[in-house]
Amino acid sequence: MTTQFAHYKHFLIEAGTTWIQSQRDIYYGRGKPLSKSEIEVLKNFFNADILKAVRICPVSKIENPAFLNDLKQMGLPVSFNFSDSLGITFLETIVVATPKLHDFHWMSLLFHECIHVMQYTLLGLSGFVERYVEGLVSNDFIYNEISLEKDAYFIQNRFDENPDLPFSVLDVLSSRLQQRGWDEVKVHDI
Ligand SMILES: [Zn+2]
Repeated sequence: MTTQFAHYKHFLIEAGTTWIQSQRDIYYGRGKPLSKSEIEVLKNFFNADILKAVRICPVSKIENPAFLNDLKQMGLPVSFNFSDSLGITFLETIVVATPKLHDFHWMSLLFHECIHVMQYTLLGLSGFVERYVEGLVSNDFIYNEISLEKDAYFIQNRFDENPDLPFSVLDVLSSRLQQRGWDEVKVHDI
């Protein structure tokens, strides 16, 4: 584990938190609730409160945050580009790039993003951002090494392998968080 980027943590946490909150406020009102058929599938994995809170907002392209350029100018090896993403989750608001969706399994993407909603509820916005930033700076900004993403892909894969076998995302996520020594797991309002 490297710590060469540790002194950027504070900046990243501040900038990330402001960005997530502002994007959530922009997109929440434009979003729509999950459909009946989506809830029918997801209710075998997520609690009803989460599914009721989720909003889906389609966009033509996901915008990068303005601070991404600042990071590059600071010399950080930022290789990720949000505008290449299919989906991104700001608290309970899931923004999806519809032109990129044609070839993609929608329920799989939706499942992944709902896991992020659950992470926000377990950790709170500040806890989510702190852990996301920690994952970035201690892994040289390699997206796939971020523990919150590893958890999301691990759980998503379990769904992909057998979408008919119910399990509790809350339980799996809580135990994975606790295994990493995070003992403050509790449900937050978002
Ligand atoms: Zn993700």
